[in-house]
Amino acid sequence: MDTELDLPPDLGEPETLRGISGSPGIAVGKVVVFSPRPDGFIRYRLEAGTEDKEEERFRKAVAQAKQALLELRQQFEGDLSDTLAIVDSHIRMLQDRMLFDQTLSLIQQKQINAEWALARTLSLIKRKFDHIADDYIRSRFADIEYVARLVVEQLSGQGRTFPAGFAEPVIVAGEDFSPVDTIRMLTDKVLGFLTEKGGATSHTAIVARSLGLPAVVGLSGLTSRCRTGDTVILDGYEGRVCLHPTQDQQRLHLEYARQHRTFSEEMRWYIRLASETVDGLKVRLSANIEIPDELESVIYYGAAGIGLFRSEFGYFQRKELPDEESLFTVYRDLLIALEPESVTIRTLDVGGDKLASQLPSNGIQLVRERNPALGLRSIRFSLHERTLFITQVRALLRASYYGRLKILLPMISSLSELRQVQAVIAEVMEQLTKEGIPFNPDVAIGIMVEVPSAVVLADTLAREADFFSIGTNDLIQYSLAIDRGNEYVASMYDPLHPAVLRMISQTVEAGHRQGIEVSLCGEMAGDVFSAPVLLGLELDELSMRPSAIPHVKRLLRHSTFSRLTALSKRLLQCGDSSETHALLKQYLTDNYPDQFADHERM
Ligand code: PEP
Ligand code: MG
Repeated sequence: MDTELDLPPDLGEPETLRGISGSPGIAVGKVVVFSPRPDGFIRYRLEAGTEDKEEERFRKAVAQAKQALLELRQQFEGDLSDTLAIVDSHIRMLQDRMLFDQTLSLIQQKQINAEWALARTLSLIKRKFDHIADDYIRSRFADIEYVARLVVEQLSGQGRTFPAGFAEPVIVAGEDFSPVDTIRMLTDKVLGFLTEKGGATSHTAIVARSLGLPAVVGLSGLTSRCRTGDTVILDGYEGRVCLHPTQDQQRLHLEYARQHRTFSEEMRWYIRLASETVDGLKVRLSANIEIPDELESVIYYGAAGIGLFRSEFGYFQRKELPDEESLFTVYRDLLIALEPESVTIRTLDVGGDKLASQLPSNGIQLVRERNPALGLRSIRFSLHERTLFITQVRALLRASYYGRLKILLPMISSLSELRQVQAVIAEVMEQLTKEGIPFNPDVAIGIMVEVPSAVVLADTLAREADFFSIGTNDLIQYSLAIDRGNEYVASMYDPLHPAVLRMISQTVEAGHRQGIEVSLCGEMAGDVFSAPVLLGLELDELSMRPSAIPHVKRLLRHSTFSRLTALSKRLLQCGDSSETHALLKQYLTDNYPDQFADHERM
């Protein structure tokens, strides 16, 4: 590939926006931004006696909208079955009684124009949808809204202006796209999609997946931050976009894209295969997620359940703190969706890099701390804000009745802290029993081992915890005294530091001596460079971002347990990072020569 020719210069400052992975893949190119359409729902009262005429105007607009969809359907008939099914559902919705009849009766009864009647109908329908617990069904309100807009465009006499063709291959960005917009754009050179709204089940995501194009959705601030003509890197694996990337970043990502294309076909095979070594060692490969929208990728990548659900993300960027009922619904739905696999939900872990100030402030006394990473963070915050914590514990216990829940406590640093939390949980269990609310009294309660004191006391803690999950992201930070978010010391942040490897090994041994399982859910679990080391250290479970699972599984299936443990034993003898890195590199080149490019990439 002649990358030099493909790299447009971009004069802006590089900036990364995080969103949700809508469809896997990487694209680098110029962006075309579609601004939101004006809503067009003009409002006026009808002159007496003109209701029938208005009704006729509405019927005609609906018929025209239907015709436009039918024409589009005909034009694109082929193998886009998922997408065309959505167009069919839009055609049906145009005739739906809820939308069509209700609008007609408002025109007649309230003597208001068709646009106004349609807007009122939409808000009535929205109110009904807002009460639906199922996220997927609730999000389908977007279809009804879309169909109504099509009609309004016909009412305005302008018809539908679908996004036009592109002369060059482009990445398309906007608030959100209808499936019709998306397939219409297919005739042109589209490299991928970016949307401000939507989750993993939004239409843009569904259609992009069915077309095999990368997409990132839910990118807040996208349309105000990025302009047509800007260069961007779209990373659909990680759910992020880099605006104004440097030429080096672009070159690197074009190479990633090439490697991903080569590997993805092969990786697909691994999704359904067992995660075990050639000589039969089984290791659970589970998923780390932040929001329930990621459930689809958990299933897609064949994760053995969820090893870490970072529950704090359900508290951020909201006006109000979530109540017990809404937390319960989210947890229960995850458990039901993944049954019989387990779902490990970590209690609120705020503070440090996950700013407590992102929480809605009602009822919470936030303190200013000089050193938040060592302050009132994580489980300390929960024990300090008891009401908030009890609400979450109630929601978790109630959900425990519906599947295999494991409750994970972050940042436990002493036995008394674990006991305090257990006392709160016991208290809540008593309350629920009195209230006659069902829960699982034997729900597993485990701890994150992510501060050095927990490693040193692992044998003691293992007697009272049901499982361990090693959080290397923090363990590295606290044991090597390196702020995980500080770019000046980032090069010293080393998962292969011998002290880190020995701490992992000590924790695994202490847990196994007490007969409890030990998982690892820090970023290094999904890094194929570190994975052989962790597998040799005999962790029972590695929890990682879903897209990394097939890569780690492939490595596992091409390994033997004896070779992995021999490697780990040698690594544990090393006295310095330079030795661990050299040893591992040698091991990888000797054992997986054809996969080594992949190791370097990830
Ligand atoms: C960790 O510390 O390794 C971890 C998994 O938790 P977080 O990154 O959310 O702090
Ligand atoms: Mg942590």
